[in-house]
Amino acid sequence: MKLAPILVAVALALCVVTATPNAPDQPTREVAITIDDLPAGSSSSMSAATLTEMTTKLLATLRDQKIPVVGFVNERKLYKFGEVDERIKTLRMWLDYGFELGNHTYSHSSLNRVGLQAWEDDIVQGESVTKLLLAEHNMTLRYFRHPYLDTGRDLQTRRQAEAFLAARGYSVAPVTLDAWDWMYAGVYEDAKKRGDNALQDELMKSYLSYSDQVFAYFEQLSKQTIGYEPKQILLLHANQLEADHIGGLLDVLRKRGYHFIALGDALGDQAYGLPDTYVGEGTSWIDHWAVTQGKPPQGAPVFPQWVIDRSKVLHKPQP
Ligand SMILES: [Zn+2]
Repeated sequence: MKLAPILVAVALALCVVTATPNAPDQPTREVAITIDDLPAGSSSSMSAATLTEMTTKLLATLRDQKIPVVGFVNERKLYKFGEVDERIKTLRMWLDYGFELGNHTYSHSSLNRVGLQAWEDDIVQGESVTKLLLAEHNMTLRYFRHPYLDTGRDLQTRRQAEAFLAARGYSVAPVTLDAWDWMYAGVYEDAKKRGDNALQDELMKSYLSYSDQVFAYFEQLSKQTIGYEPKQILLLHANQLEADHIGGLLDVLRKRGYHFIALGDALGDQAYGLPDTYVGEGTSWIDHWAVTQGKPPQGAPVFPQWVIDRSKVLHKPQP
Protein backbone atom coordinates (compact mmCIF):
# COMPACT_ATOMS: atom_id res chain seq x y z
CA MET A 1 0.00 0.00 0.00
CA LYS A 2 1.49 3.27 -1.07
CA LEU A 3 -1.63 5.30 -0.22
CA ALA A 4 -0.97 5.71 3.48
CA PRO A 5 2.25 7.76 3.19
CA ILE A 6 0.56 9.98 0.62
CA LEU A 7 -2.38 10.56 2.98
CA VAL A 8 0.04 11.38 5.76
CA ALA A 9 1.83 13.81 3.49
CA VAL A 10 -1.47 15.44 2.47
CA ALA A 11 -2.57 15.66 6.09
CA LEU A 12 0.74 17.28 7.04
CA ALA A 13 0.46 19.72 4.16
CA LEU A 14 -3.05 20.66 5.28
CA CYS A 15 -1.77 21.25 8.80
CA VAL A 16 0.86 23.61 7.45
CA VAL A 17 -1.71 25.46 5.36
CA THR A 18 -4.30 25.81 8.12
CA ALA A 19 -1.87 26.90 10.83
CA THR A 20 -1.41 30.69 10.68
CA PRO A 21 2.15 31.80 11.28
CA ASN A 22 1.05 34.18 14.03
CA ALA A 23 -0.25 32.50 17.17
CA PRO A 24 -3.09 30.33 15.83
CA ASP A 25 -4.82 30.36 19.22
CA GLN A 26 -5.51 34.10 19.03
CA PRO A 27 -8.90 35.36 17.83
CA THR A 28 -9.08 37.68 14.83
CA ARG A 29 -8.85 41.25 16.05
CA GLU A 30 -8.91 44.63 14.35
CA VAL A 31 -7.14 47.86 15.17
CA ALA A 32 -6.81 51.30 13.60
CA ILE A 33 -3.46 53.05 14.12
CA THR A 34 -3.41 56.77 14.94
CA ILE A 35 -0.29 58.87 15.49
CA ASP A 36 -0.45 62.14 17.43
CA ASP A 37 1.60 65.30 17.94
CA LEU A 38 2.77 65.75 14.34
CA PRO A 39 5.20 66.74 13.05
CA ALA A 40 6.84 65.29 16.21
CA GLY A 41 6.30 65.23 19.95
CA SER A 42 9.63 66.82 20.76
CA SER A 43 9.91 68.75 17.51
CA SER A 44 11.10 71.96 19.20
CA SER A 45 14.36 70.25 20.18
CA MET A 46 14.70 68.55 16.78
CA SER A 47 16.26 70.12 13.68
CA ALA A 48 14.21 70.09 10.47
CA ALA A 49 16.75 67.64 9.02
CA THR A 50 16.29 65.21 11.92
CA LEU A 51 12.55 65.65 11.68
CA THR A 52 12.61 64.79 7.97
CA GLU A 53 14.79 61.75 8.58
CA MET A 54 12.55 60.53 11.42
CA THR A 55 9.37 61.03 9.41
CA THR A 56 10.82 59.24 6.37
CA LYS A 57 11.76 56.22 8.46
CA LEU A 58 8.41 56.03 10.27
CA LEU A 59 6.33 56.43 7.11
CA ALA A 60 8.42 53.98 5.06
CA THR A 61 7.70 51.16 7.53
CA LEU A 62 3.98 51.98 7.63
CA ARG A 63 3.72 52.21 3.85
CA ASP A 64 5.73 49.04 3.23
CA GLN A 65 3.45 47.12 5.60
CA LYS A 66 0.30 48.74 4.11
CA ILE A 67 -0.93 50.09 7.46
CA PRO A 68 -3.68 52.73 7.20
CA VAL A 69 -2.86 55.65 9.53
CA VAL A 70 -4.32 59.01 10.51
CA GLY A 71 -1.75 61.49 11.90
CA PHE A 72 -2.94 64.30 14.17
CA VAL A 73 -1.26 67.69 13.81
CA ASN A 74 -0.29 70.49 16.20
CA GLU A 75 0.40 73.29 13.71
CA ARG A 76 2.22 75.44 16.27
CA LYS A 77 5.15 73.02 15.90
CA LEU A 78 5.58 74.17 12.29
CA TYR A 79 6.62 77.68 13.30
CA LYS A 80 10.32 77.48 14.03
CA PHE A 81 12.31 80.38 12.62
CA GLY A 82 13.97 79.54 9.29
CA GLU A 83 12.45 76.06 9.15
CA VAL A 84 8.75 76.61 8.43
CA ASP A 85 8.87 75.36 4.83
CA GLU A 86 10.87 72.26 5.72
CA ARG A 87 8.54 71.46 8.59
CA ILE A 88 5.47 71.81 6.39
CA LYS A 89 7.17 69.47 3.92
CA THR A 90 7.35 66.74 6.61
CA LEU A 91 3.57 67.02 7.03
CA ARG A 92 3.04 66.85 3.28
CA MET A 93 5.02 63.60 3.29
CA TRP A 94 2.25 61.93 5.31
CA LEU A 95 -0.22 62.66 2.50
CA ASP A 96 2.24 61.84 -0.30
CA TYR A 97 2.79 58.44 1.33
CA GLY A 98 -0.98 57.84 1.30
CA PHE A 99 -1.87 58.63 4.92
CA GLU A 100 -4.45 61.07 6.30
CA LEU A 101 -4.10 64.09 8.61
CA GLY A 102 -6.43 65.26 11.38
CA ASN A 103 -6.55 68.18 13.83
CA HIS A 104 -5.05 67.89 17.33
CA THR A 105 -5.45 71.65 18.09
CA TYR A 106 -2.87 74.31 17.22
CA SER A 107 -0.98 74.23 20.52
CA HIS A 108 -2.03 70.93 22.16
CA SER A 109 -4.60 72.53 24.51
CA SER A 110 -6.37 70.52 27.16
CA LEU A 111 -10.12 71.15 27.23
CA ASN A 112 -9.99 70.36 30.96
CA ARG A 113 -7.51 73.17 31.59
CA VAL A 114 -8.00 76.04 29.13
CA GLY A 115 -11.80 76.18 29.06
CA LEU A 116 -14.20 75.83 26.16
CA GLN A 117 -13.73 79.16 24.34
CA ALA A 118 -9.91 79.06 24.27
CA TRP A 119 -10.02 75.40 23.26
CA GLU A 120 -12.39 76.08 20.36
CA ASP A 121 -10.16 78.95 19.18
CA ASP A 122 -7.18 76.58 19.30
CA ILE A 123 -9.02 74.11 17.07
CA VAL A 124 -9.81 76.77 14.46
CA GLN A 125 -6.22 78.05 14.55
CA GLY A 126 -4.98 74.49 14.07
CA GLU A 127 -6.79 74.04 10.76
CA SER A 128 -5.08 76.42 8.34
CA VAL A 129 -2.02 74.57 7.01
CA THR A 130 -3.53 71.10 7.39
CA LYS A 131 -6.61 72.11 5.36
CA LEU A 132 -4.42 73.46 2.55
CA LEU A 133 -2.28 70.33 2.46
CA LEU A 134 -5.33 68.08 2.44
CA ALA A 135 -6.87 70.16 -0.36
CA GLU A 136 -3.71 69.55 -2.46
CA HIS A 137 -4.62 65.87 -2.20
CA ASN A 138 -8.37 66.41 -2.77
CA MET A 139 -9.06 65.53 0.84
CA THR A 140 -10.93 67.35 3.59
CA LEU A 141 -10.20 67.74 7.29
CA ARG A 142 -12.57 65.36 9.07
CA TYR A 143 -10.98 63.90 12.22
CA PHE A 144 -10.25 65.48 15.59
CA ARG A 145 -8.25 64.03 18.48
CA HIS A 146 -8.48 65.57 21.97
CA PRO A 147 -5.05 66.53 23.38
CA TYR A 148 -4.31 64.46 26.53
CA LEU A 149 -7.60 62.68 25.65
CA ASP A 150 -9.19 65.35 27.86
CA THR A 151 -12.86 65.48 26.82
CA GLY A 152 -14.03 67.90 29.53
CA ARG A 153 -14.23 68.20 33.29
CA ASP A 154 -18.03 68.35 33.37
CA LEU A 155 -20.70 66.90 31.15
CA GLN A 156 -22.09 70.24 29.97
CA THR A 157 -18.66 71.32 28.67
CA ARG A 158 -18.12 67.91 27.13
CA ARG A 159 -21.40 68.05 25.22
CA GLN A 160 -20.86 71.67 24.11
CA ALA A 161 -17.41 70.74 22.83
CA GLU A 162 -18.83 67.76 20.94
CA ALA A 163 -21.52 69.96 19.36
CA PHE A 164 -18.84 72.46 18.30
CA LEU A 165 -16.78 69.69 16.68
CA ALA A 166 -19.77 68.22 14.87
CA ALA A 167 -20.81 71.67 13.59
CA ARG A 168 -17.31 72.16 12.12
CA GLY A 169 -17.57 68.81 10.37
CA TYR A 170 -15.32 66.76 12.65
CA SER A 171 -15.62 63.18 13.77
CA VAL A 172 -13.97 62.61 17.14
CA ALA A 173 -11.23 60.00 17.02
CA PRO A 174 -11.53 58.07 20.31
CA VAL A 175 -8.69 55.95 21.70
CA THR A 176 -9.07 52.49 23.21
CA LEU A 177 -5.45 51.27 23.34
CA ASP A 178 -2.68 53.46 24.77
CA ALA A 179 0.66 52.27 26.16
CA TRP A 180 2.18 55.71 26.84
CA ASP A 181 4.84 55.52 24.12
CA TRP A 182 5.53 59.25 24.68
CA MET A 183 6.84 58.48 28.15
CA TYR A 184 9.39 56.04 26.70
CA ALA A 185 10.12 58.30 23.75
CA GLY A 186 11.61 61.19 25.73
CA VAL A 187 14.10 58.91 27.48
CA TYR A 188 14.80 57.06 24.22
CA GLU A 189 15.58 60.25 22.30
CA ASP A 190 17.99 61.37 25.00
CA ALA A 191 19.71 57.95 24.96
CA LYS A 192 19.95 58.16 21.16
CA LYS A 193 21.53 61.62 21.29
CA ARG A 194 24.13 60.34 23.78
CA GLY A 195 24.75 57.18 21.73
CA ASP A 196 23.66 54.94 24.64
CA ASN A 197 22.69 51.85 22.64
CA ALA A 198 22.23 49.60 25.68
CA LEU A 199 19.61 51.93 27.17
CA GLN A 200 17.81 52.32 23.82
CA ASP A 201 17.63 48.55 23.59
CA GLU A 202 16.36 48.19 27.14
CA LEU A 203 13.70 50.86 26.53
CA MET A 204 12.55 49.25 23.29
CA LYS A 205 12.17 45.84 24.98
CA SER A 206 10.29 47.32 27.91
CA TYR A 207 8.04 49.32 25.57
CA LEU A 208 7.09 46.28 23.49
CA SER A 209 6.49 44.11 26.55
CA TYR A 210 4.46 46.79 28.36
CA SER A 211 2.41 47.39 25.19
CA ASP A 212 1.63 43.68 24.98
CA GLN A 213 0.38 43.76 28.60
CA VAL A 214 -1.71 46.87 27.93
CA PHE A 215 -3.31 45.29 24.85
CA ALA A 216 -4.15 42.12 26.83
CA TYR A 217 -5.60 44.21 29.66
CA PHE A 218 -7.86 46.28 27.39
CA GLU A 219 -9.01 43.24 25.43
CA GLN A 220 -10.13 41.68 28.70
CA LEU A 221 -11.68 44.94 29.96
CA SER A 222 -13.56 45.31 26.65
CA LYS A 223 -15.17 41.91 27.10
CA GLN A 224 -16.03 42.62 30.73
CA THR A 225 -17.48 46.04 29.94
CA ILE A 226 -19.27 45.77 26.61
CA GLY A 227 -19.31 42.01 26.08
CA TYR A 228 -16.90 41.88 23.13
CA GLU A 229 -13.69 43.35 21.75
CA PRO A 230 -14.54 46.31 19.55
CA LYS A 231 -12.51 47.43 16.56
CA GLN A 232 -9.77 49.01 18.65
CA ILE A 233 -8.08 52.39 18.08
CA LEU A 234 -4.43 52.62 19.12
CA LEU A 235 -2.76 55.88 20.11
CA LEU A 236 0.90 56.32 19.22
CA HIS A 237 3.03 59.45 18.84
CA ALA A 238 5.39 60.74 16.18
CA ASN A 239 8.84 60.25 17.71
CA GLN A 240 12.21 58.53 17.27
CA LEU A 241 11.14 55.49 19.26
CA GLU A 242 8.29 54.77 16.84
CA ALA A 243 10.40 55.64 13.79
CA ASP A 244 12.97 53.05 14.90
CA HIS A 245 10.66 50.38 16.34
CA ILE A 246 7.10 50.63 15.06
CA GLY A 247 7.79 47.44 13.06
CA GLY A 248 8.35 45.61 16.36
CA LEU A 249 5.11 47.00 17.77
CA LEU A 250 3.17 45.93 14.66
CA ASP A 251 4.59 42.41 15.18
CA VAL A 252 3.35 42.44 18.79
CA LEU A 253 -0.11 43.32 17.48
CA ARG A 254 0.00 40.66 14.73
CA LYS A 255 0.95 38.00 17.28
CA ARG A 256 -2.22 38.95 19.19
CA GLY A 257 -4.24 38.33 16.01
CA TYR A 258 -4.71 41.96 14.95
CA HIS A 259 -5.41 43.13 11.41
CA PHE A 260 -4.90 46.77 10.55
CA ILE A 261 -7.94 48.77 9.46
CA ALA A 262 -8.72 52.41 8.63
CA LEU A 263 -9.96 54.73 11.38
CA GLY A 264 -13.25 55.24 9.52
CA ASP A 265 -13.79 51.49 9.49
CA ALA A 266 -13.11 51.24 13.25
CA LEU A 267 -15.56 54.08 13.94
CA GLY A 268 -18.28 51.99 12.30
CA ASP A 269 -18.19 49.71 15.34
CA GLN A 270 -21.34 50.20 17.42
CA ALA A 271 -19.21 50.51 20.57
CA TYR A 272 -18.41 54.11 19.59
CA GLY A 273 -22.11 54.96 19.87
CA LEU A 274 -22.51 53.50 23.38
CA PRO A 275 -23.61 55.71 26.29
CA ASP A 276 -20.60 57.70 27.49
CA THR A 277 -20.96 60.23 30.30
CA TYR A 278 -17.32 60.09 31.38
CA VAL A 279 -15.75 63.30 32.65
CA GLY A 280 -12.31 63.83 34.19
CA GLU A 281 -8.71 62.95 33.31
CA GLY A 282 -8.17 61.77 29.75
CA THR A 283 -8.17 57.98 29.38
CA SER A 284 -9.19 55.08 27.12
CA TRP A 285 -12.78 55.01 25.85
CA ILE A 286 -13.04 51.51 27.32
CA ASP A 287 -12.54 53.21 30.71
CA HIS A 288 -15.23 55.74 29.67
CA TRP A 289 -17.75 52.96 29.08
CA ALA A 290 -16.81 51.15 32.29
CA VAL A 291 -17.15 54.31 34.41
CA THR A 292 -20.44 55.18 32.66
CA GLN A 293 -21.73 51.76 33.77
CA GLY A 294 -20.63 52.48 37.35
CA LYS A 295 -17.82 49.92 37.14
CA PRO A 296 -14.52 51.85 37.43
CA PRO A 297 -11.80 49.56 36.05
CA GLN A 298 -9.11 48.11 38.25
CA GLY A 299 -5.87 46.22 37.78
CA ALA A 300 -4.37 48.09 34.82
CA PRO A 301 -0.73 47.11 34.15
CA VAL A 302 1.64 49.31 36.14
CA PHE A 303 3.88 51.53 34.00
CA PRO A 304 7.57 50.69 34.66
CA GLN A 305 8.77 52.99 37.43
CA TRP A 306 12.37 53.07 36.17
CA VAL A 307 11.22 54.74 32.95
CA ILE A 308 9.26 57.36 34.92
CA ASP A 309 12.32 58.00 37.12
CA ARG A 310 14.60 58.46 34.12
CA SER A 311 12.09 60.78 32.51
CA LYS A 312 11.89 62.91 35.66
CA VAL A 313 15.67 63.31 35.75
CA LEU A 314 15.60 64.54 32.13
CA HIS A 315 12.91 67.11 32.83
CA LYS A 316 14.50 68.52 35.98
CA PRO A 317 14.96 72.27 35.53
CA GLN A 318 18.57 73.03 34.66
CA PRO A 319 20.46 74.97 37.38
ZN1 LIG B 1 -1.13 64.79 21.85
